[in-house]
Amino acid sequence: MTRSLTKSNSHFQKAVKRLPLGVSSNFRYWGEDKTIYVKSAKGARVTDIDDNEYIDYRLAYGPCILGYADSRVDAAARAGMEQGGVFALSTERELAVAERIASMVPAAELVRFSNSGTEAVMAALRVARAYTGKDSYVVVEGGYHGVFDAALWYTPIEEWRPGRGDPHLVPYSAGVPGVLRALLHAVPMNDADRLESVFKAYSHEIAAFLIEPIMGNCCSISATKEYLRDARALCDKYGILLIIDEVKTGFRVGRGGVQELFGVKADLCTFAKAMGNGYPISVCCGREDIMRKFGNGVVHGGTFTCHSIALSAAQKTLEILAETPALATIADYGTKLRAGMSQILAQRGIKHSFSGHPSMSGLFFSEKPPRDYRDWASSDYTFYEALAPHLHDLGVLCEPDSREPWFVCEAHDERCLGETLNRFETAVDRVVRSAPRPASAPFTKYTT
Ligand code: PMP
Repeated sequence: MTRSLTKSNSHFQKAVKRLPLGVSSNFRYWGEDKTIYVKSAKGARVTDIDDNEYIDYRLAYGPCILGYADSRVDAAARAGMEQGGVFALSTERELAVAERIASMVPAAELVRFSNSGTEAVMAALRVARAYTGKDSYVVVEGGYHGVFDAALWYTPIEEWRPGRGDPHLVPYSAGVPGVLRALLHAVPMNDADRLESVFKAYSHEIAAFLIEPIMGNCCSISATKEYLRDARALCDKYGILLIIDEVKTGFRVGRGGVQELFGVKADLCTFAKAMGNGYPISVCCGREDIMRKFGNGVVHGGTFTCHSIALSAAQKTLEILAETPALATIADYGTKLRAGMSQILAQRGIKHSFSGHPSMSGLFFSEKPPRDYRDWASSDYTFYEALAPHLHDLGVLCEPDSREPWFVCEAHDERCLGETLNRFETAVDRVVRSAPRPASAPFTKYTT
């Protein structure tokens, strides 16, 4: 089975004349002959305009927790549409959804809604700065927190080698003001001593430690429980707020997110993707004394915040996640997927490991998953990058960049599993047959 992308390719040539890169998000551009345009999606499957069908493990970068076009959520969204949209006024439903979130996430004493993960993290950072009266913040190398200037910094790890000191921190995008660098500290994951040394030296200026404990944009490289608990204690010791970014992990790795999984409570936390099964909604939530700063000196708002369609969709999605075994079903599928892949790879003597949570697995071609982004630099990602295009050709959609985990939704069923594993086996054999692979630079996410 080899795909034709004739229609997508020809649409790209037209689209690129009006839309930069022919798309509406840089991350959706995969090259002029590989960019896919979607016709429709249902459950765990996406169909492109050439009628190629894919079992999808990208799931729109995570939000489709139940599956595309879930009839329960879509019915709620339609009912939400009847309410009228946005009013520059509030509705009763906001409280109902906030109560639901608070019941699932103990840290969510108070809740503020937004439309996207980016907006939620921006709000968290702003309120943390206002509360502490400090401006700097600490992030983890390899982390991603959205498309706002304060978060668009990254470590070009491909250029770094052990023993050369700390990797640089550079803007992810042209147009990000260089002056913002002075506010930012980056630390490697899982090094509590290093975190403490930064806190000790700069606690007078650091408002927050912003961490995504399972890095959903970095192969699901994970904090250990001990590290996150140490980080919690260090934040308390040095008067720094702990912001846990659950935009990808929230309502996915557990009903109470990564905080439930790790037994750690944030001061502030952010949720987006899974909470609306793909409808645009997010929250910044946290400790009451901090959150009361909203409306008491801290500005937060937005015309489209709590659109009645997205809010109704979130209400239904959260109800399903809280009251049905959906998340257990998802984790079980992820565990079986890992086991099946493992068997195929082990039979061929290919070293591999998984990181993160079964609902969002990072796949590595090394015996152990990396502990941090520096470790990742010395792992062999060329096998993954050779594998991904074969999987696409065979109708399994994963990100071409090995740094994006494989997401699972409730609609991934036994049939998906069997088909995925068959195709995975074929793809692995194709890569093995085509060895040796060039030592290439990793796939570049088109983040400008
Ligand atoms: N935080 C994390 C951890 C994310 O994964 C993302 C998106 N991938 C964001 C923030 C930004 O969310 P959005 O794309 O909805 O703005």
